[in-house]
Amino acid sequence: MSTLRFRVVEKAFQAKALEVPMPSERPSEYFAKKVFNREKMFKYLPTAVYAKLVDAMDNGAVLDRAIADKVAEGMKCWAMEMGATHYTHWFQPLTEGTAEKHDSFIEHDGKGGMIEEFSGKLLVQQEPDASSFPSGGIRNTFEARGYSAWDPSSPVFVVDDTLCIPTVFIAYTGESLDYKAPLLKALRAVNKAAVEVCHYFNPDVKKVMAYLGWEQEYFLVDEGLYAARPDLLLTGRTLMGHEASKNQQLEDHYFGAIPTRVAAFMKDLEVQALELGIPVKTRHNEVAPNQFELAPIFEECNLAVDHNMLIMSLMRKVARTHGFRVLLHEKPFKGVNGSGKHNNWSLGTDTGILLMAPGKTAEENLRFITFVVNTLMAVYRHNGLLKASIMSATNAHRLGANEAPPAIISSFLGEQLSKVLDHMEVSATDELISLGGKHGMKLDIPQIPELLIDNTDRNRTSPFAFTGNRFEFRAVGSEANCASAMIALNAAVAEQLTIFKTEVDALIEQGETKEAALIQVIRKYIKLSKPIRFDGNGYSDAWKEEASRRGLDCETSCPLIFDRYLKPESIKMFESTGVMSQKELEARNEVKWETYTKKIQIEARVLGDLVMNHIVPVAIEYQTKLIDNVYKLKGIFSEAEADKLSAENIAIIRKIAEHTSYIKEHVDGMVNARKIANKITDEREKAIAYHDKIAPMLEQIRYHIDKLELIVDDKMWTLPKYRELLFVR
Ligand code: ADP
Ligand code: MG
Repeated sequence: MSTLRFRVVEKAFQAKALEVPMPSERPSEYFAKKVFNREKMFKYLPTAVYAKLVDAMDNGAVLDRAIADKVAEGMKCWAMEMGATHYTHWFQPLTEGTAEKHDSFIEHDGKGGMIEEFSGKLLVQQEPDASSFPSGGIRNTFEARGYSAWDPSSPVFVVDDTLCIPTVFIAYTGESLDYKAPLLKALRAVNKAAVEVCHYFNPDVKKVMAYLGWEQEYFLVDEGLYAARPDLLLTGRTLMGHEASKNQQLEDHYFGAIPTRVAAFMKDLEVQALELGIPVKTRHNEVAPNQFELAPIFEECNLAVDHNMLIMSLMRKVARTHGFRVLLHEKPFKGVNGSGKHNNWSLGTDTGILLMAPGKTAEENLRFITFVVNTLMAVYRHNGLLKASIMSATNAHRLGANEAPPAIISSFLGEQLSKVLDHMEVSATDELISLGGKHGMKLDIPQIPELLIDNTDRNRTSPFAFTGNRFEFRAVGSEANCASAMIALNAAVAEQLTIFKTEVDALIEQGETKEAALIQVIRKYIKLSKPIRFDGNGYSDAWKEEASRRGLDCETSCPLIFDRYLKPESIKMFESTGVMSQKELEARNEVKWETYTKKIQIEARVLGDLVMNHIVPVAIEYQTKLIDNVYKLKGIFSEAEADKLSAENIAIIRKIAEHTSYIKEHVDGMVNARKIANKITDEREKAIAYHDKIAPMLEQIRYHIDKLELIVDDKMWTLPKYRELLFVR
């Protein structure tokens, strides 16, 4: 009998909320307590050093070694007061997590003792022994050198006893081996291109920031139940499990009351997040049982990405102190919603203007339309690439699976904005020019109600929706590093804005007024980018057909979607914006294919083990019990009567035999398919084989396991069931 399962379920039922001591201070007082922010820089650094550092942070000015030494000295002083004994370069390799190697501050003092030291050299650059991070062949093991280099635009912080220094991670030969380096380049590119376009409207703009507000969805599962599910433990998702009789059909979880044990976790997490300077603001239940969401106030994109990486590791840690495990996987449970991470994205100027928000005057609205339409153009031209930027073995379960975003990128604008664009598309440009001329341009731009910001209609099926003062890229996966999507989006918009400027300038050169030139090009883009606009139901089959007619990227195979990074127009875009070279793109794709293969490979192995160690033995044990019963009935009843009485059991015995033999046969088949696929040396081809041949087998085998779960005596079933994993608090 399955005693472990019952023990863990009972324990999970009885678990109580942890008493979390709440700080006596207000959040505004402990916010960023553990961050070396400007306030602390000012306090711990000489004035001249502070000014230089701020210049480096805001404008990318280069810091010389002498200044770096002083900065390091101030940081060390503050960090030691915070209880830090160690420091680490904290970076984001291509593994979806973060990496760190801790060194202590201590050095010999030359007199037989020790002193705490931290120099500018150690702050600025390190050489982690990094040959074991994925690099797609850029860094062969004989040339294992990779450098981590300080990113002064994201402040250092203290976690436990360690001073964490956000860094980029690059190869000896200069190629990026991480997410942060290309992200910083994409942000630089979009800044440059957007500032130039802003100058049509306001010559004072010096800087344009990309903003990101992510919304992190996640599941919580009791830790005992989690430990009893090897599939959750090893792959992050359940590879089997029949749907519970009740899941989300009553729609009673979304925005419902937060269970006390979960609320305690959330409070604890929020305090620690705020101390680390992460401006968390929103928490609520999500659609699926045991699913929740956490969202901060939006921030500058690079910082927001770091904060998301930080909060994911913080969530894992805090969940454990509350007897939970957090599941960040995009689809931990079949049959209930998966988890995403909406990326709310916008551009804003150093003069305080949100460029994706409508204004009050016709001139302001022309600027607004300029940025919205260029974004649409970028998304239209690179829709396949944007899909690739959010694609992964885990997110593939979500996309196109009749929930969350479909596997086709389109953009929802809402009725009002659509009307404005439709109007501009048909209004006569020539007329505009004659109306305007040198005597003052009359802009034929419809009034855009201010209400728009709060009142944008919602379309939850759209992967890239305009929501009043920003775009919401909803296709991003819950487990992903947001940087991947943000690199592609910001670089694509940067390229697009540069093309736009060239076209507008050419018209101005030909004698057009600035406004007429802007409107003419915008009008052209409104026409061209029309195929990307879709306000209907993104889940419908009719849309799939329509999208393919419109020439949008409809590919659904994950390894093939990665090809989009290597299309000539993608390479051109990344190279012209200085974000990534062809060599880097090729190397990163190797990593993507390899990771894809490994994920499916691990799932296949785990499923094979579970079948042999849990499912089949339990099913046979139960079957034997039934067979025993059939024989024994014959001892008490007449043959005819016994046959009648055991008809039901015999039917079950047969079903069990059918399911188990299917399962065993297909697990063997899967092992063979793996052997064949593993011989393929080309990473892309191997990933395709895993996608086409092995991934479908996982689903086929699962179907029969789930049927067995329904038949076999509950007492004997060893693995916690969906109703236990999802409904126990
Ligand atoms: P939802 O209704 O989609 O849950 P919220 O109001 O909770 O939206 O906001 C989602 C996220 O969008 C938050 O992180 C918020 O700070 C962010 N956000 C709001 N305005 C902008 C903007 N202009 N640019 C980027 N992010 C923004
Ligand atoms: Mg949202």
